[in-house]
Amino acid sequence: MQGLDTRLAQLEHKRRTLPELAEAEKVDQRLADLRDVLVAAQTAEGDVAREQKKAEADVEQVVNRAVRDRQMLQSGRGSAKDLENIQHELQTLAKRQSDLEDVVLEVMERRETAQNRVTEMTVQRDEAQTRRDEVAAAIAEATGAVDRDVAAVTAERATIAGVLPEDLLALYERIRAAEFGVGAAALRRRRCEGCQLELDISEVNAIKAKPADEVVRHEACGRILVRVPDSGL
Ligand SMILES: [Zn+2]
Repeated sequence: MQGLDTRLAQLEHKRRTLPELAEAEKVDQRLADLRDVLVAAQTAEGDVAREQKKAEADVEQVVNRAVRDRQMLQSGRGSAKDLENIQHELQTLAKRQSDLEDVVLEVMERRETAQNRVTEMTVQRDEAQTRRDEVAAAIAEATGAVDRDVAAVTAERATIAGVLPEDLLALYERIRAAEFGVGAAALRRRRCEGCQLELDISEVNAIKAKPADEVVRHEACGRILVRVPDSGL
């Protein structure tokens, strides 16, 4: 019974400390980081996209103005002074257009870089998500295996509990609850394997004098002592 209970405790420990759980924690952290980075990259890309729109609108404005100026020139309306001013403005506009087009090109380059980063981060995020799914499946599988072992050991335990005297089982459970999961321990070479203390000779002799079917307990720790061939009695 104690062997089975120890096994059950080990299985619960195994379930809580599956290496896949630590891996899942790591991947979750990475996934959260990548989501943040991706949001930042998308925000940055959006900012540059707006910048590009603005720069293109600036160019358009200058181009439209130049078109109007040329129409004005072609119409021949206005004084010679007006026409001269328009000629001058057209020169200024051409220079301005060229400068603004440089700005557009520069913004487009930055936008491409930003878009590449979004793409790259999306790929990394997707990879991390795939890994997370794999780890989740591995956890489910490992947990399932532990559950099956627990079920088998629990069934075996029920069988043994069914044949143990009720008062002995109650005593065992009481000690087990109080003594860190160990209610019964082998007495081996005069040593209690529950608390690891060696029994003094008078206690050994007292146990020796008792019938083999009498329940004996270690005075020091209170655990039920199970006599085995090399108990040293
Ligand atoms: Zn003991």
